[in-house]
Amino acid sequence: MHLPHLFSGMSLLFSSSPVISSIMWKLFTVVSLFGLLVSSCEGAVNTTGLKLLLSPGATISNNGSSAPRWSDFDAPTPGAVVTVATEQDVLRTVQYCIALNIPFFAQNGGHGWSTTINLKQNGITINLAGIKAMSIDSAKSAVTFQGGALISDVVNFAYNNSVLVPTGTCNCVGTLGAILGGGFGNLMGQYGFGVDNLVSLNVVTPLGTAITVSPTSYPDLWYAMRGAGANFGIVTSAVIKSYPTNAAGLTAWHGPLIFLGTSLEALIGAMGNLTMQPKMAMELFFLLEGGQPIILLNLFYYGTEADGRAAFASILAVGPIADETAILTYDQWNAGGDGFCTKGERKPSFGAGLAKLDPTTWRAVWNKWLAFASLPGAETSAVILDVYSLVKPRTFADSSSAYPFRHTVNYNAIATGWYPDSTLDAQAEAFGFAARDLWRSTSGLPVNSTYINNGFGDEALSVVYGQSLSQLQTIKKHYDPLYRFNQWFPIK
Ligand SMILES: Cc1cc2nc3c(=O)[nH]c(=O)nc-3n(C[C@H](O)[C@H](O)[C@H](O)COP(=O)(O)OP(=O)(O)OC[C@H]3O[C@@H](n4cnc5c(N)ncnc54)[C@H](O)[C@@H]3O)c2cc1C
Repeated sequence: MHLPHLFSGMSLLFSSSPVISSIMWKLFTVVSLFGLLVSSCEGAVNTTGLKLLLSPGATISNNGSSAPRWSDFDAPTPGAVVTVATEQDVLRTVQYCIALNIPFFAQNGGHGWSTTINLKQNGITINLAGIKAMSIDSAKSAVTFQGGALISDVVNFAYNNSVLVPTGTCNCVGTLGAILGGGFGNLMGQYGFGVDNLVSLNVVTPLGTAITVSPTSYPDLWYAMRGAGANFGIVTSAVIKSYPTNAAGLTAWHGPLIFLGTSLEALIGAMGNLTMQPKMAMELFFLLEGGQPIILLNLFYYGTEADGRAAFASILAVGPIADETAILTYDQWNAGGDGFCTKGERKPSFGAGLAKLDPTTWRAVWNKWLAFASLPGAETSAVILDVYSLVKPRTFADSSSAYPFRHTVNYNAIATGWYPDSTLDAQAEAFGFAARDLWRSTSGLPVNSTYINNGFGDEALSVVYGQSLSQLQTIKKHYDPLYRFNQWFPIK
């Protein structure tokens, strides 16, 4: 612990926290200095003083694994996990970390796989899982949810209130963890990205203050947080638009088609030629099923089966060997992906944005995937291709948020190695890098562009922030001059 850092952090806190009473600050200072003394003795992160600052429901564990991650590959190994019980606990924990110069990181769903997350034994994970409250306004036009809510929490709440909320498509992923990077999901063709639907954010800032960010309150942060949110603060709660509907509107035609590998070129060709209307979405997977390689294509159509089959006629014409599509209610739309929710094991994942789909490239990626997934222990490894309608997202200007690829990237591909221990790390990385190189070589884009939430972690900042980078750097210097938020593709 370096004293100059401590006092620079403290002075920032004092100068920027008018809401905190002087009595609280005296207590806070005593507690923090006590923590500093103990921490210097122990060498690892010390949370002794922190407990006194938190609500009774908050817990502190010195078991860094007590907030499990989706992937253990290069995962953070914090010295402590603070599971907050109130939004105020988030504020207090951030203030404590700033004062003692403790690295920290917020965890929502725990699925962020980026290797940029580098929290070690001297760091604290602020686990948001204890704050998940939700409410809806009387007009049913907006849902307020706290920072720990998972996609399943928001979807179930929305379903029970007969509204639609644009979230991601995997139940276990953090609602904000996904949205703060952009927020892709089945409803985006109709309503836009997650960032396009946010109304306001309650944020704990790098200066240890609590503020509300909206189009009229800190508009530069409003821009930055919608695409690069994890670099600018912790969102303790958010308001997002909701869309009231009736019983029929809470259903969609949805489910998988199964194809043999021999259909790959025809299928990729058909997918690339299909015009994605607002009600359509599809997600393709390369999977091993009982040792046999298959292509699983999940179709989504927000409407009737007849209209869905008409919209996807060119895909159906490729000739699936199985068709498990059905009319599903909103609370079941994401259930098909629950197998991907399993936490633990190693899952290095490599994303690439694409403007076009090249069947030859996809055959080469198939071969790389099959070779890796055929290794004992790696059978769950997968390749994923997300294809969403961009009709609504493209009605917004690029400058409306920091999400950078609104008008350039049409498809998002991911290669995921999945295996139990580190013996396959080198081969998994070789597979991931090779797949990514192949995609990039025929992406149809002038520069490499990867959705930040899909990045492996080694990308240049321009690859994940695109044309938003220089504006983000300016905003970062202003709001986080000491780089407190430095774990998620850290902007410098
Ligand atoms: C199985 C699976 C399915 C996925 N499906 C989708 C999908 O449908 N749509 C989509 O867009 N993406 C999807 N993703 C990608 C996903 O958006 C990213 O993995 C995202 O980072 C996960 O968020 P999380 O909260 O689960 O992870 P975390 O690791 O908890 O968080 C990821 C990053 O966001 C930060 N963060 C989280 N919450 C907050 C907060 N409240 N305030 C500030 N920063 C915060 C964290 O500090 C971290 O830097 C999927 C990923 C997986 C593994």
